[in-house]
Amino acid sequence: MRIVDVHSHFYSENGEDAGWEIPQAPPGPIGPSVYVEAVRQSGLAAGGRMVIYSGSGLDRLREGPEVLPRVNSAAAGLVEMAPELFILGFSPDPFHPNETLDLMETYVRERGAKVIGEIVPYIAGYDREGPAMDAIYEKAIELDVPINNHSSTAEDSAAIRRLAERHPEARIIMAHIGGTWAFREGIAVARSHDNVWVDTSGWPMVAGGTMEIALRELGPSKLLFGIDYPLCDIDTWVERLERLPVSDEARERIAWGNAAELMKLEL
Ligand SMILES: [Zn+2]
Repeated sequence: MRIVDVHSHFYSENGEDAGWEIPQAPPGPIGPSVYVEAVRQSGLAAGGRMVIYSGSGLDRLREGPEVLPRVNSAAAGLVEMAPELFILGFSPDPFHPNETLDLMETYVRERGAKVIGEIVPYIAGYDREGPAMDAIYEKAIELDVPINNHSSTAEDSAAIRRLAERHPEARIIMAHIGGTWAFREGIAVARSHDNVWVDTSGWPMVAGGTMEIALRELGPSKLLFGIDYPLCDIDTWVERLERLPVSDEARERIAWGNAAELMKLEL
């Protein structure tokens, strides 16, 4: 089945300290080959691709501008190993806006990044909004790429609502349908704003009824399939996608059609 997972991460630590475990790899430092192997053995391998955002190092962005290129080049290294499986996302650093805007340009124009994200204020410690975030949104508009913005609380969804209104030309993917316990707020924002979509990554995909409510309230055109690997299991999320109570046409939109349009992918 053709699938584009719009939301997964590259972490260079596995098990114990990391809080999750990639079953194919031993605990400890790991390299990109572990990811390539894991995806090749998964339900995504046949016709699926995974958008990779940086994972490790985002909590150290504030230490200095040298952290940002490091975390992004780690993700880019993975994508370059298996471009048939992975799609690159660029993680921004609002603590260092000038460096971020320059690097965004390089990553989108020269290194093939198709989306900006994931915006993760709760991990990195930067503000959800402010002049630096506005500049990142405007740069994404200029570079014609969507932005994936984390949301797990009503406050996150409210911030995304204001960002969508301040930047009406931005194409915003609200992660996690707004959050496991805040999906109703997330759905309301996506429903009332033409430039906001939601991705199914994380627990909302499998939490009781959330997907059904999202389908009913938003319809398939606003939903993008996402996993949040390695925090979530690839095959469980793919099987849930295959079992969604929708037509084949709607399933294709959710599985890859909307993502391909938003990221302007040639599949
Ligand atoms: Zn997230």
